[in-house]
Amino acid sequence: MEKIRMTTPIVEMDGDEMTRVLWKMIKDELICPYVDLKSEYYDLSLVNRNATNDQITIDSANANKKYGVAVKCATITPNAARMTEYDLKEMWKSPNGTIRAILDGTVFRAPITVKGIEPYVRTWKKPITIARHAYGDVYKNVEIDVPGPGKAELLFTGEDGTEIRENVFEFKGPGVLQGIHNIDKSIASFARSCFNYALDTKQDLWFATKDTISKKYDHTFKDIFQEIYDAEYKERFEKAGIVYFYTLIDDAVARVMKSEGGFIWACKNYDGDVMSDMISSAFGSLAMMTSVLVSPDGKYEYEAAHGTVQRHYYKYLKGEETSTNSVATIFAWTGALRKRGELDGIPELEQYADRLEKAVIQTIESGKMTKDLALITSLENVTVLNSEDFIKAVRQTYDALS
Ligand code: NAP
Ligand code: MG
Repeated sequence: MEKIRMTTPIVEMDGDEMTRVLWKMIKDELICPYVDLKSEYYDLSLVNRNATNDQITIDSANANKKYGVAVKCATITPNAARMTEYDLKEMWKSPNGTIRAILDGTVFRAPITVKGIEPYVRTWKKPITIARHAYGDVYKNVEIDVPGPGKAELLFTGEDGTEIRENVFEFKGPGVLQGIHNIDKSIASFARSCFNYALDTKQDLWFATKDTISKKYDHTFKDIFQEIYDAEYKERFEKAGIVYFYTLIDDAVARVMKSEGGFIWACKNYDGDVMSDMISSAFGSLAMMTSVLVSPDGKYEYEAAHGTVQRHYYKYLKGEETSTNSVATIFAWTGALRKRGELDGIPELEQYADRLEKAVIQTIESGKMTKDLALITSLENVTVLNSEDFIKAVRQTYDALS
């Protein structure tokens, strides 16, 4: 059989622990036998990030900017324990944070739905994608423990010295105080990423804030989205038959619960943090969540939403059998290859990605799955497979799907 040819390389960002083990199995069994893989390889393992003083992460993000499409394996974000475990020179920053800052992107997370893993919300028939703004608000706050009576003010001093001053509160006793900010440029990037992704995936876009209470702060988010929509996207949305719709955050929550799914829900930073955990657990499993970083100028980085599955990796190192779910990592590859095919006009590559995803879903729906899914499925007569055998079973299904 002739392998599918690629014209532009995808940026391949390898990672750590169990997901690094799965990475190789996926390439050997599911990608390289079918695709003449062109990739520019970056080893983002913690060992190599430490050896290169994290330059490798920056280089990989720049390559992502250059070529447009990347696929990333889960990576360790160092903490105190990792400092000793890997004898690190520094507590290197989260690679995802570094890449996101360079691409100025928004992360879209969506569940992979299969029959037998039913969402806890009965009405949900289609995936709900969460888009989380990744800058500012409470994540870049300053806080004061107010010790006792006194006056709190908000003061802005312009570069020319002009002052804008607002009374916050006259404290009669102890309390707390917080200052938060955001910037128009970041909100606009977030809006464009969301509009582009909605057009890309042909799904409606919902956006919600609390603008009735926060008449300047949240209202600015609402206004920027609306202005950009009217000026740049309205016609394209109408042509694509999709809708942009703004509502209050509490109304959005109520509607989401009663919806069928099948849309993108754009959230401010805090709302996205909270709601993405709700959506992923309500849909069943973090191991079945895809994640893609989309920049406002249309660069893509595909990954799994889960981490490096450290506990399974230590079992693997001891030679014990693991049953780690590779679905989200396989979908990161198919997402990246499909996008590459779309951008380069290689329909065979897009069809290959579709077929591989179909094979994954059929394998699970036929009762063959990893342990994490076997524990929550409503299917009977399930066969629990180990990490490698699941990937091999997907290959068999793929081959049978001609
Ligand atoms: P994790 O790797 O997501 O795993 C937490 C637990 O969830 C696992 O122990 C396992 O439960 C279950 N799980 C997650 N993915 C699974 C899969 N594919 N198949 C089966 N079970 C799965 O989170 P963590 O253990 O908190 O973090 C480990 C490392 O990952 C950390 O160093 C963290 O910095 C990093 N991390 C990276 C990313 C990223 O690169 N995007 C994201 C998050 C975390 P059981 O043990 O009960 O089987
Ligand atoms: Mg969170």
